Amino acid sequence: MIDLRSDTITRPTEEMRKAMYEAEVGDDVYGEDPTVNSLEEESAQVLGKEAAIYVSSGTMGNQVAILTHTSPGTEVIMEANSHIYYYEAAAASVFAGIQPRPLPGDKGILSPELVASAIRPDDIHLPPTSLICLENTHNRGGGRVVPLEIMKKIFSIASQNNLPVHLDGARIFNASVASGVAVKEYTACTTSIQCCFSKGLGAPVGSILAGPEIFIDEARRWRKRLGGGMRQAGVIASACLVALKTMIERLADDHANARLLAEGLSGLKGLDFNPDDVETNIVIIKPLHISPMLFNEELRKRNILASIMEPDMIRLTTSKEVSRSDIETTIMAIRDILSG
Ligand SMILES: *Cc1c(COP(=O)(O)O)cnc(C)c1O
Repeated sequence: MIDLRSDTITRPTEEMRKAMYEAEVGDDVYGEDPTVNSLEEESAQVLGKEAAIYVSSGTMGNQVAILTHTSPGTEVIMEANSHIYYYEAAAASVFAGIQPRPLPGDKGILSPELVASAIRPDDIHLPPTSLICLENTHNRGGGRVVPLEIMKKIFSIASQNNLPVHLDGARIFNASVASGVAVKEYTACTTSIQCCFSKGLGAPVGSILAGPEIFIDEARRWRKRLGGGMRQAGVIASACLVALKTMIERLADDHANARLLAEGLSGLKGLDFNPDDVETNIVIIKPLHISPMLFNEELRKRNILASIMEPDMIRLTTSKEVSRSDIETTIMAIRDILSG
């Protein structure tokens, strides 16, 4: 099977397995797991923040951030196709009691002017704005890199209004490797950031949430409230340390494979697809004369797995589990499906 459903399907490397076996551990709820402590310190450094906290998933990282930054009855500005709005089962409404304010972006990229106009004035009829959320790279935007300039402008608008900015940076290393912009430059435009180890970086479990020290102290309480306090978590954190050390640069291979796929699908009749939209490891195509469900079934018959991105798109994601020749096979299969 060629698995292009997601980069979450990546399995730990040999080096990760070895690190997991050998990891020094303790009770992390007591702050006594040396491996988790190293991961949190190292991540904070890499992300240019004072402190960091290891969490079980990207969703937990985002939700702990929203819970820490906001209070119930306030409004959080976010992009209408963002993961926080689209794929977290309304967690921010359920747990934090916030009202989302979804704004339409251009393939995930928000206009700073639109963000500025959405910040609420002081009026008892209105929910006060408490937070602005960004996503980079943008998943439903097709892995688009949000330009640093846009992030700078939005951060400056936020600062003028005394608002924090949270970055859902599940794939921030993909953004950095693709654009050549240092991760710290992106994170300099945010108050907090969540980043996933369990996607293209290949670790089995976990995300990091980084930000100012007082923010992370309070985030620890929220993580505990949600049941996210883990004990000998060094067993899984050790793989994340290996991910930081060995798996970032190789994301360029995933991007090259996505580019190869994009070129191979370019100009095919029956597809709504612009190869220029592909910037990182995600390729989104829209079949014109066949439903995404049927298209996916045809792929599966040819031993290829893709994911349906509702309502009418197919997402193909490259990762370390997918080779160049897998991509060539996929291009032929899609040509075959569209001509049949
Ligand atoms: C995958 C993803 C998440 C959530 O990560 P989980 O570990 O699956 O909870 C958050 N944001 C974005 C943009 C993602 O792609």
